[in-house]
This record gives sequence, structure tokens and C-alpha cells, in this order.
Amino acid sequence: MKNLPVAVIGAGPIGLAAAAHLINRGIPVKVYEAGDAVATNIRDWGHVHLFSPWRYNIDPVGRALLAGTAWHDPNGDTCPTGADLVADYLEPLSRVPAMASVIEFGARVTAIGRSGIDKISSRDRGQYPFVLTVVGRAGVRRDLARAVIDASGTWSSPNPLGGSGLPADGEATHAKRIAYGIPDVLGRDRSDYAGRTTLVFGAGHSAANVLLDLVALSLEAADTRAIWVTRGTDLSRVYGGGANDQLPGRADLGQCLKEQVESGQIGLITGFAAETIREEGDRLIVEGAAPSGRQTIGPADRIVVCTGQRPDLALTREVRVDLDPWLESVRALGPMIDPNLHSCGSVPPHGHREVSHPEPGFYTVGIKSYGRAPTFLMLTGYEQVRSVVAAIAGDMDAANDVRLVLPETGVCRANPSSAVISCDSGSPAMPPAISEVASAIEEKAGCCRPSASAPKPAPALNCCENAT
Ligand SMILES: Cc1cc2nc3c(=O)[nH]c(=O)nc-3n(C[C@H](O)[C@H](O)[C@H](O)COP(=O)(O)OP(=O)(O)OC[C@H]3O[C@@H](n4cnc5c(N)ncnc54)[C@H](O)[C@@H]3O)c2cc1C
Repeated sequence: MKNLPVAVIGAGPIGLAAAAHLINRGIPVKVYEAGDAVATNIRDWGHVHLFSPWRYNIDPVGRALLAGTAWHDPNGDTCPTGADLVADYLEPLSRVPAMASVIEFGARVTAIGRSGIDKISSRDRGQYPFVLTVVGRAGVRRDLARAVIDASGTWSSPNPLGGSGLPADGEATHAKRIAYGIPDVLGRDRSDYAGRTTLVFGAGHSAANVLLDLVALSLEAADTRAIWVTRGTDLSRVYGGGANDQLPGRADLGQCLKEQVESGQIGLITGFAAETIREEGDRLIVEGAAPSGRQTIGPADRIVVCTGQRPDLALTREVRVDLDPWLESVRALGPMIDPNLHSCGSVPPHGHREVSHPEPGFYTVGIKSYGRAPTFLMLTGYEQVRSVVAAIAGDMDAANDVRLVLPETGVCRANPSSAVISCDSGSPAMPPAISEVASAIEEKAGCCRPSASAPKPAPALNCCENAT
């Protein structure tokens, strides 16, 4: 079995980092990427500025692989866009010959099992190789693997509009006028939004970005209107901690959104749980539950759903996985990242133990390891895969020596929950990083008067919710 490759599912930043570590240790690896190129998910939000600067976005072993090429290291304090991250790091990394030879594009893994035994059988389970159902360009096939690292992300499984977590009635019927995630309102998708009224659902930074882009678009295209709809009524997390926020850039983004709401540029409806979408004339009406009873919103032309993502659990149906019951993250991480308890995304250092499962040799890494929690940072994933690959190599000293130092954001005060657990306790503070991140963001913020020609507001580093 040792001659079989380790299967890495997904060529996003964390899957590629896993492959780089495996290559570095001389372990055979096969990377399956569903898209036609690396980082398919990031390409979808390529117009969005990251909130972490370059220095946090590059895996050290990835950097080492690139060092022997003509690659220009963008290491520094500037925050790239998603498109920059792909063009200036992930694409070059994927072209390094040792990497290029192990990535298969257009290869979607649809199921994972163990060859010859089903999920129930326990005896000698770890001795059986994994078997993957792969839908490739030449058709469907089965591949064997010695271990599986699932880095397939969550971006392609957005949460639905329905306030209950179930799709709203009519959501599928009107799908053509509904976007999920962060549409490129000022670019690729401009014609869908110019001169139209859009309802934006969600209370995270994805919604903030879409709303501010719509305001910017309204300066060029008359009759462009944005209405922001949230389930909760306390917007303090997305507005940020104001003067108490240790990250000025995040405070600016939140302030910017707040100003646009207070000035009436953005309509606001809070405490609304969507249930039904229906058509009236050729426009959309959304009905749902509000504190005062049943409420109707609209008419609108478009809906943008920014309610987060969830992992695709079908992929792992035939392997023994252990997940947090509501976050669907790996179980060990659940209590550390539960947004009901934590308002920031700091997690203690963790590695192969936390991202493993009862299924020996199977690991969930990257943003998928966080399940529905919106606080994942690439830095976290790079340390996860370093530890996992060391464990696969049998180098348990390295595997167990986990170190993770995340930039603190000091926004825990902004959490409205009375059950807040202080994020400062037990997580390593990193004062220089705070100021580095903050100043990089500050340069790109100053967005309170959006204009279509002005630089787009940058999503600021937010330990409570990243831009998902
Ligand atoms: C808008 C936005 C902004 C963010 N900003 C930051 C930031 O500033 N800093 C930061 O550290 N983090 C940020 N994040 C969080 C996180 O770092 C990114 O989401 C990152 O892309 C996660 O990397 P990943 O490799 O885990 O997953 P992904 O990047 O989602 O990659 C998963 C890959 O797997 C492929 N795939 C999926 N299913 C299959 C399958 N069945 N078979 C084969 N291939 C498959 C996909 O096509 C994709 O290429 C941000 C996230 C979002 C959405």
C-alpha cells in the first residue's frame, strides 16, 4: 500500500500546500481538481481583496518549491485580490514541474471508500487502500490511494436563502435571478445589477462587500438600489468595534457600511427570516417571518444570498468521519470555533490529530475542516497540512510539534452574545502582526464614499467572520 499515492482532493491553496509538503518528503501524491485550473473557488471571488497580506498567504514549502524558478516572491504587506493570489502564487506553484505532473484538472472526486470493505467492517480496516470514484475528462474511474487529504473547500455548497437553513419556497424556481457568494457587481456581473434593485441577505463581510459595490455602481448607473436584509437585529459584528477595534481597516469597512445605511443609500431590514420567493409582475417578492409577524419585502429584480457555506457531506458518506453536530467541522475544532461561543477566529495550534477521523489515513483540511464556521485563515490550513504530511511520513515528532500564530484582531468585545468566551485567553497574541495587517488594510480602506472609479473597499481582517 505504501507505493500508492496520497490522494489530495482539491487544488486550492491548502490542497496545493499539502501536495508541496508531500513532494518535499518524497511521498507519491495525486491531486484531483474538479475545475479546469487551480483554485477554481478563489477565481469565483477573484475581484475581492483578501484581508491578509501576502506574508500570511504563502505556504513556506510552496515558497521553497518556487524558489528554484523565475517566480517573483510577492511577500510583503500588501493585500492581494483573490485573482492576484491565483496569478502570483497558486498558478506559478502549480506549474513547478514536480507539482504539474501530479495534478489532474477536470477530475471531480464524487465518493471515497475503502477498497474491498464497506463502512461497517472494522477488522484490519487501515490495511485496505482507499478507493476514490473520479469523474474525469475521459469518464468515470476508480483510483486507489494510501491516504486521503480532503481539501475540497465549501465554496460550491452555499447555504440557501431560507431562514431555517432550508431552501425558501421558490428559491429553485427563481434561481436565475439569485446569486450566491460575492458576485462581481462592478465587473463581470455588472449588467445584472446596473439600474436594478437588489436584496442582499446575510450579515457578514460578503454582504458588506456586495452592498458597498452596489452603492458604488449606483453612482454610475441610475436606479441601482441595494436593500440589506438580515436575520439578526444586532449588526455590531459587521459594523465592527469602532474606536475599540484594534483593526482600523475593519472599523472603516464597518463604519462605511453603517454610514451608507444611515444615509439611506442602503435600505435595511433586520430580524427577517425568508420563507418564500414569488413573482409579482416580472419582479421578485420575498415573504418571511419578522418579529411583528409575517412580512413581505420587494419588489426587487435580483437577490444575492451571502449566508455562508456548508461542507459537501455526500463525498465522505462511505468513510468514517467524526464531525461537530452543528458546525460540521472536524469534531475537535468545533468547540474552538463555534460562533455561538467565540466571536473571533483564533484557534489553538492544532494538526494531524484534530483533523483526522476514526477512518485511519483520512484527513479533512483547509476551510472544510471548519465546516460552517466562517473564520478560517490560510495560515491555519498550512500548519494543518504540514502536520498531516509529517504524520503520513511517520515523522511524529514533527507532526506533533504544531505551532500556529494567528494575527489577533481584538474584536471579541463586538460579540453581542452573553456567552462569549474570551478569544484572548489561550491564543497567542501577535502584536506586530496586528499593526502590520491593520496598516495594510488601512491603506486600502477609506471607502466611506464609494465611487465606481475609486478603489474597491477592502474586506478587513476580521477574526469574527472572514469574507465568507
Ligand atoms: C471572499 C473570501 C475572502 C477570504 N479572504 C481570506 C483572507 O484574506 N485570508 C485568509 O487567510 N483566508 C481568507 N479566506 C478564507 C480561506 O482562506 C479561503 O476560502 C481559501 O480559499 C480556502 O482554501 P482551501 O484550499 O481550503 O479551499 P478552496 O480554496 O475552496 O479550494 C478547494 C478546491 O477544491 C476543488 N474541489 C471541490 N470539490 C472537489 C471535488 N469533489 N473533487 C475535486 N476537486 C474539488 C475546488 O474546485 C477548489 O479548487 C477568504 C474566503 C473567502 C470566501
